[in-house]
Amino acid sequence: MKVIVSGGAGFIGSHLVDALIDRGIEVHIIDNLLSGRKENINPQAQLHVVDICSEEASKVIMNIRPDAFYHLAAQADVGKSVQYPKYDGNINIIGTLNVLEACRRAKVGKFIFASTSAVYGNLNNEIISEEEITVPASFYGLSKLTAESYIRLFYELYRQSYTILRYANVYGPRQLPKGEGGVVSVFLDRLQKGGPINVHGDGQQTRDFIYVKDIVAANIAALELGDQETIQVSTSQKTSINDILSLLTEIHGISIQREFTAPREGDIKHSCLCNEKARNLLNWNPSYTIEDGLRETYTFNKQLESDISSAYFENELMG
Ligand code: NAD
Repeated sequence: MKVIVSGGAGFIGSHLVDALIDRGIEVHIIDNLLSGRKENINPQAQLHVVDICSEEASKVIMNIRPDAFYHLAAQADVGKSVQYPKYDGNINIIGTLNVLEACRRAKVGKFIFASTSAVYGNLNNEIISEEEITVPASFYGLSKLTAESYIRLFYELYRQSYTILRYANVYGPRQLPKGEGGVVSVFLDRLQKGGPINVHGDGQQTRDFIYVKDIVAANIAALELGDQETIQVSTSQKTSINDILSLLTEIHGISIQREFTAPREGDIKHSCLCNEKARNLLNWNPSYTIEDGLRETYTFNKQLESDISSAYFENELMG
């Protein structure tokens, strides 16, 4: 089997690439390294440094003719989308359309798309299901929702098979301290630098935090299951920002000063996605508790930090 992962040098994409390679699958990556990093890339994967909006990206897809195409490459920063809607739309809508069209022409078996809870906007429901109304509150949510609509219509008109996965807030190793769900990596960064930690609002706001390896498992399941479905990938558990901080402080073993600042404009109080459809259609269950996921992320960051400082001292010693 042969697959392409767009965004395979990024946070989630690189973990997906590792898991696919572990299963003996031939993996190609399309990534322009905008936020992705070469260090994230599994040496057994083949990297094509191209932009998803370009003719070169279409050519790569046409040449490889993969069995499946995972589309994770995106402009994934909500704030940036609000500041630069045209830039966001170009990557998330036109870029998606470009690779989708190439997949249709290359007769790719399945198109698996990384969507987001941001498509719902500021719903304050206790728990959100896939049937809920979608009223995006950012251009990022709108561009992802528009890309979803194109994908569904490509099936209606051309029978291009797909699965759309709407992720909750993803965290884990290799996440940069920014973007969607980046709060865990921002806090870890502060902890390692010795704080203080800035909390927007009272810290009682909750999110549905899901560990990256659980997201990867759902993506792998979608290779065979969930055809023509839109499915939320989440834990269905609410965790407050204060809870995250307490858990991380416990793991770190040193208490850190918290500074509460004004709530961020437009920040929703609670967000939690129902995962029943994923359990039923993908035969999938989240397997990481928040404690386990945070511990694994913490250990990874700590290791990275010590690798970087030993490399630095080695360089110094070598003169
Ligand atoms: P990321 O920024 O780490 O990864 C995105 C990757 O896409 C990067 O490697 C980047 O270099 C690449 N890329 C960006 N623009 C490109 C372009 N024009 N051409 C080619 N490559 C390009 O982000 P992530 O957090 O790993 O997100 C992966 C996907 O998951 C995105 O589609 C994002 O919208 C979605 N998602 C993420 C979360 C989350 O919590 N992180 C939640 C919901 C959905």
